[in-house]
Amino acid sequence: MTVPVYQNFIHGQFLANHSGEKFAVKNPATDEVIYEVEVADSHVQQAAIESAKAGFALWSAMAPIERSRVLHKAVSLLRERNNELAKIEVLDTGKPWQEAECVDIQTGADVIEYFAGLAPAQVGTQQPVGGDFFYTRKEPLGICAGIGAWNYPLQIACWKSGPALAAGNALIFKPSEETPLGAIKLAEIFIEAGVPAGVFNVVQGAAEVGQWLTTSPDIEKVSFTGEVGTGKKVMQSAASNLKEVTMELGGKSPLIVFEDADISQAISAAMLGNFYTQGEVCTNCTRVFVQRKVYDAFLAELKQRTEQNIIAGDPFDPNVNLGALISKQHHTLVMDYIAKGKAEGATVLTGGEALSPETAPNGYFVAPTVFIDCHDDMTIVKEEIFGPVMSVLVFDDEEEVIQRANNTHLGLAAGVFSKDIQRAHRVIHQLEAGICWINSYGNSPAEMPVGGYKQSGIGRENGIETLDQYTQTKSVYVGMSDIESPF
Ligand code: NDP
Repeated sequence: MTVPVYQNFIHGQFLANHSGEKFAVKNPATDEVIYEVEVADSHVQQAAIESAKAGFALWSAMAPIERSRVLHKAVSLLRERNNELAKIEVLDTGKPWQEAECVDIQTGADVIEYFAGLAPAQVGTQQPVGGDFFYTRKEPLGICAGIGAWNYPLQIACWKSGPALAAGNALIFKPSEETPLGAIKLAEIFIEAGVPAGVFNVVQGAAEVGQWLTTSPDIEKVSFTGEVGTGKKVMQSAASNLKEVTMELGGKSPLIVFEDADISQAISAAMLGNFYTQGEVCTNCTRVFVQRKVYDAFLAELKQRTEQNIIAGDPFDPNVNLGALISKQHHTLVMDYIAKGKAEGATVLTGGEALSPETAPNGYFVAPTVFIDCHDDMTIVKEEIFGPVMSVLVFDDEEEVIQRANNTHLGLAAGVFSKDIQRAHRVIHQLEAGICWINSYGNSPAEMPVGGYKQSGIGRENGIETLDQYTQTKSVYVGMSDIESPF
């Protein structure tokens, strides 16, 4: 069967490569090839840079309020095409339609809308110094690069392009090789909305194309979403011309459930934070610490709800709420972690095996898995698994749980469930994590900065401060009297 072939999207149109090299993309729920994509060879790479230079010259010269209007138009188009775009995300990622239809495109559009609104509000300062004065200008950086992960492909492209474009930059975006189509659709929408050609180019390929972006001397900043190990490589090559970096990396986040918490609510949070998007969410609370007095009750309800309420299968079935993992390779990795958990002495409370649902028998499914009898030094408790695997740990007191929760080189997210407001804030303030929730988990509105402590990241996405991370400050000193000079 022949499948469509997509080229790279450069300067407002598709551009053929010269090498003829391409790669295939599979639907994780069926194991079938759904389309092919051309790799960005040196011809495409050079065109992407030349085009971005031209796009940047036009876009950065536009008044911020003009840029804002154009971006608002793109937001409307994204929302109008929600279902068409959500379908692409389901086919590429294997996630349930019931999620993509109401989350992926909407949260992407929200962020572009937020930064479009902020664009004309960005101001410099003015300060007198003696009789002279100086003022500052927030100027765009130039050409930026975005490199995305595969779990929220279109949302990540929106989260990076929103602030980058609002601040007047051009962005060259490389989606993950597993999920390349959403970014192309976003590029088409930007063109239709009136963003000049070259302001948002999409290059396709695997690590080599990402590496090229991180070493190109014409690129001023890299915003990267992916694994900690890849992030370190990206930062190392970005040092070649001292690019600015934003790093959105992995996590092994704790959720702490105190005995005074609403246990059913805490279980809802733990399930959302481990099984939503089949566990492929960076902020997941994969270490759930439960205070001893409520441990048994917590486990009983968690087991019952996990076994009764989770439906795996064809992701387009609106009742399905557990999709397929991204690839066969990732499926193997997650199953290997489950095997390690068993081998190191953890007990499977529920799940623990691969699934082959009737409606999607060839998909890469893993049963929602809960491990108990876990210890802090087990592999499954220390390493990011990025699948539907929860480890539940028991604790006795506040000081102990804070120390154990912080005992990791990662620090992306954390959550606390307690009805004691003083305790909830006191504990959250001591947790080493950038994204925290009290009596909630996973919400990430455009207005709220997100990013990691420790090795989970550098810089932030979303929130006001992110716009500044796509600008540089120019100070302009103005002399009002004759220069005093000894010469
Ligand atoms: P990877 O680090 O494997 O890949 C991320 C991106 O980097 C992909 O586009 C990949 O290309 C590219 N890449 C790979 N090697 C290089 C390189 N040497 N130089 C430049 N680019 C390179 O991450 P995954 O795609 O597997 O995503 C899962 C990870 O992302 C998890 O650790 C998760 O926690 C993290 N993540 C973090 C988020 C956050 O906001 N903090 C949000 C979402 C995910 P290709 O895939 O085509 O090979």
